[in-house]
Amino acid sequence: MTKTKRQWLRGLPKAELHLHLEGTVAPETLVVLSQRHDSTPLTLEEARALYEYKDFVHFLDTFKLVLDRLLTPEDYALITREMMRHLHEQGVVHAEVYMSWGNILHWKAPLQVEDVMAAVEDARIEVERELGGPSVYWIADASRQWGAEEAGRVFRLAASLRHRFPNIVGIGIGGDEVGGPIEWFRDLYLEAKKAGLRLTAHAGEATGSVQGPLEMRSALSMGVERIGHGLAAQYDDELMDILAKQQVPLEINVTSNIRTGCCPSVEAHPLPKFLEKGMLCTVNSDDPTMFGADCLDDYVLISDAFGLSLDKMRELARNSFSASFLPEDKAKRWISALDAYR
Ligand SMILES: [Zn+2]
Repeated sequence: MTKTKRQWLRGLPKAELHLHLEGTVAPETLVVLSQRHDSTPLTLEEARALYEYKDFVHFLDTFKLVLDRLLTPEDYALITREMMRHLHEQGVVHAEVYMSWGNILHWKAPLQVEDVMAAVEDARIEVERELGGPSVYWIADASRQWGAEEAGRVFRLAASLRHRFPNIVGIGIGGDEVGGPIEWFRDLYLEAKKAGLRLTAHAGEATGSVQGPLEMRSALSMGVERIGHGLAAQYDDELMDILAKQQVPLEINVTSNIRTGCCPSVEAHPLPKFLEKGMLCTVNSDDPTMFGADCLDDYVLISDAFGLSLDKMRELARNSFSASFLPEDKAKRWISALDAYR
């Protein structure tokens, strides 16, 4: 029996490198969280309606509503288990997942990041044992708009907690690029690198043609190893050449870019241009339940919308491992597996 394209792409071993844990909460899980914390819990129907966004403000409200119901280590363990089961269903065998520790530090006292990580790591080990995968690494994510002091707390906590939880591999920064330029964080990135953490940053997502390329260039000069989104590179030929020459991985999120309005349509997305230039692109979902598309959905969308062959899709999956923070031997093993996949 021949496979449909979706079935083929599902079976293709792939890694997801740009995924926010807090953006993976499905309506069904939100109902469970609501039962734990609300005096009048949401029904599934109500939860589903919250995910049918009327506009961007409605989307932000829903995201906040989810965050406000993550109150205990067990809540984080629950969403970790659900996330991993869903990754497994998509044929994602490895994921590097952003966690918004800034959110915990900022809003959730007395909840401790250390206790959250202990619960999340127990959940990770349990599901990995049960399903045989995916492997999951954690990236501690700070918010630009909360400034350098807050990011410093997040990054230093990552540096200390990685000794207890070695699957914490790196740090990142997201949020408002206009209200929080990456230069604010230069010294902190240097410090994180010295502490042995891997460096990522959201850059060139919503900043347009002037500030966007500058943010990306700053990120590169700060030693950032992987750039989230990077849409703004399309406005700067020289920058695209640098990214291609140095093979700096971009974590591309097509559905997310359309849903947030950073890109007007799938046809307007710069991914085909980036691939033509020889840039190292990976396919990711960002906040899958919030945007209504997971990593596999984006593989299908990209292949359909840009007319990419299955071999080209295989190359994108290969990129996801070469751009990952997996040890070289493990990444190579997955690349051999996907090269042998038919
Ligand atoms: Zn993101």
